[in-house]
Amino acid sequence: MIGFLKGMRVTLRQLPKKKVTLQYPDVKPEWPERFRGVHRFIPELCIACNQCARICPTSCISLAGERDENKKMKITTFDINFDICILCDLCTEVCPTEAILMSDTFEMARYSRDDLYLDMHWLYENEQRYEEAHPERVAEKAGRAE
Ligand code: SF4
Ligand code: SF4
Repeated sequence: MIGFLKGMRVTLRQLPKKKVTLQYPDVKPEWPERFRGVHRFIPELCIACNQCARICPTSCISLAGERDENKKMKITTFDINFDICILCDLCTEVCPTEAILMSDTFEMARYSRDDLYLDMHWLYENEQRYEEAHPERVAEKAGRAE
């Protein structure tokens, strides 16, 4: 009986306090700007320098590029295997043009491992999702770059 009352005292003390849980998935968490979710990718910024693929500790990035009519390198394929990506952020750190960045996308449950092999179209769509969700962050970053 004493144990029960002690337990109730703890419960009652917590009742008026601010709730820290969310009704996920109806309510999504707001992650901080430096949260390391899966990548977003901006193809027009990529110069196919291969630095991201070279530094990746799990070799999960594969890419190819070609020269355009102005002899400038442009990306033609860019794939990340999220089955083995450890979201370490090294690829975004070395990218000289910030073509690859982390996002706040984290819901990556899939029925097949093959579905975790994502190409640059998916990564670019993730960039567009991020821009729509966080216009203030994108604008602030553009302002810092000017
Ligand atoms: S986050 Fe790390 S493991 Fe994932 S692709 Fe980038 S370098 Fe590779
Ligand atoms: S994403 Fe960045 S580091 Fe990777 S190939 Fe493109 S420009 Fe180079």
